[in-house]
Amino acid sequence: MNREKMIGQLDSISEWDICVIGGGATGLGVAVDAASRGLKTVLFERFDFAKGTSSRSTKLVHGGVRYLQQGNIKLVLDSLTERGTMLKNAPHLVRNLSFIVPNYEWWESPFYGLGLKAYDWMAGNLGLGPSEFLSLEETLEAAPTLDPNGLRGGTRYHDGQFDDARMAIHLAMTAADHDAVVLNYFPVEGFIKSNEKICGVLVKDGMTGTTYEIKAKAVINATGVFTDGVLQLDDPEAASIISPSQGVHLVFDREFFPSDTAIMIPRTDDGRVLFAVPWHHKVIVGTTDTPVDTPSIEPRALPEEIDFVLQHMRDYLSSDPTYADIRSVFCGLRPLVKRNSKTTASLSRDHHISIADSGLITITGGKWTTYRRMAEDVVDVAIESAYLPEGISMTTQLHIHGYQENTEFHSLLYYYGTDRHYIEQLIADDPSLGEKIHQSFPYVTAEILWAVREEMCMTIEDFLARRTRMLFLDAAASMEAAPFVAELMAAILQHDQSWIKQQMDDYRMVAKNYLPNIN
Ligand SMILES: Cc1cc2nc3c(=O)[nH]c(=O)nc-3n(C[C@H](O)[C@H](O)[C@H](O)COP(=O)(O)OP(=O)(O)OC[C@H]3O[C@@H](n4cnc5c(N)ncnc54)[C@H](O)[C@@H]3O)c2cc1C
Repeated sequence: MNREKMIGQLDSISEWDICVIGGGATGLGVAVDAASRGLKTVLFERFDFAKGTSSRSTKLVHGGVRYLQQGNIKLVLDSLTERGTMLKNAPHLVRNLSFIVPNYEWWESPFYGLGLKAYDWMAGNLGLGPSEFLSLEETLEAAPTLDPNGLRGGTRYHDGQFDDARMAIHLAMTAADHDAVVLNYFPVEGFIKSNEKICGVLVKDGMTGTTYEIKAKAVINATGVFTDGVLQLDDPEAASIISPSQGVHLVFDREFFPSDTAIMIPRTDDGRVLFAVPWHHKVIVGTTDTPVDTPSIEPRALPEEIDFVLQHMRDYLSSDPTYADIRSVFCGLRPLVKRNSKTTASLSRDHHISIADSGLITITGGKWTTYRRMAEDVVDVAIESAYLPEGISMTTQLHIHGYQENTEFHSLLYYYGTDRHYIEQLIADDPSLGEKIHQSFPYVTAEILWAVREEMCMTIEDFLARRTRMLFLDAAASMEAAPFVAELMAAILQHDQSWIKQQMDDYRMVAKNYLPNIN
């Protein structure tokens, strides 16, 4: 997947069938669905793929135990089906993870135990393993750092886990494998209209400033919390439909949760669930739910959100983590749809599709787990509204780029799937490329070459935050790794010293938001 080549293809088609705005889970899913149906598809992302909410999730591919508590059965059933589909089509990226719900009150074991049996039953033959009641000893064996004071036992259940930004890159590559043009650092800045109907977009190459007029039969707005801004590019009077809500995660070393089992706290002080999930040799704990007025591409955790998560960890763990134990803080914005928003076609699921008078199609809401279903639904709407050639969605059966069965989830480079062989070949040709980039992470130098050549990695932040996850795993260590990454990227991309300096300045600005002591 090469950016220059993709830009070269922009002129090869005079009118695209589908133009997608936004390169998060939703937009990339739409590009995969449309391109695999044979539609001429182009996607533009303002920053990097998954730079927004889609790299900042809890990393769960799940039916949603919380939605079960709320009685939203339809959403849980749909999400469990999608969980099974994701695991089937991306076995190199999604794994089966077991979760423990610790029980401190007498009623919790039967209550959560029965609820999770219902969860098993709803998953049917897409289940990832039966839930089970655990004795006190079994609970502590599975989660040895739980506070034993008052602990009665636990319930174990299963859900899926993934690396969200890596999945996004592989979706972009899947779309490209089906001849879609997908471009990062390409903001959509306006629309082309004929008789007040949208017939294309005005885009700019954010790297060079070159502008393009791109004609398309259907334009799909998949911009998450930025949906309102794009709606208002079309119609300055358009009503706001998004109400963003912020969620914060803290990342710790594995010593706080040494086992490979996640913990689910079913009821926090504000009535939510809280997860502690092992991920890339660390543990991520979250999340919160704080309404936000104005969406930002780099939202910042509030001190009270950090305190909230820390306090719950202290309540449930035998040790008391402090600020000094936090390796990274990351924050994402949920694109929640306002209840009173008028959508011309609203589906009974968690996501919303609307069509403006101009013909602009908007899809928003949902979650990572349901990205495929959202994409299928909105491409169906686009086919009907723009009279595109009919075609049935292929994505329930479509393998995601790099597809490989029997993945060893702890092995080096596993997250590339079959692409791993290319990186191993780079190392075989030049063994110095097998050296670690930083002693705190397993990532090796060859990954920088691969990311720049094949994964449209344009900045050091792209590499440190989304091609690898160093920023999310240990922000301070990622800043130490940054100069080496900048030097090598500059050499590959033939940039000079001033590029390196600018990249370092930009990266420091972003990374300091992930350090807990500066927040
Ligand atoms: C804290 C938190 C935890 C979560 N945990 C989970 C979980 O564990 N499992 C799960 O299934 N879901 C989870 N979710 C939900 C999931 O992450 C989101 O539903 C999903 O990532 C939203 O994707 P999106 O593509 O709609 O939005 P985004 O990822 O934000 O993508 C929108 C993109 O549009 C781009 N854009 C904006 N304007 C323009 C423009 N003018 N031109 C071009 N591009 C533009 C932006 O740069 C952005 O990249 C979580 C969400 C949050 C906030």
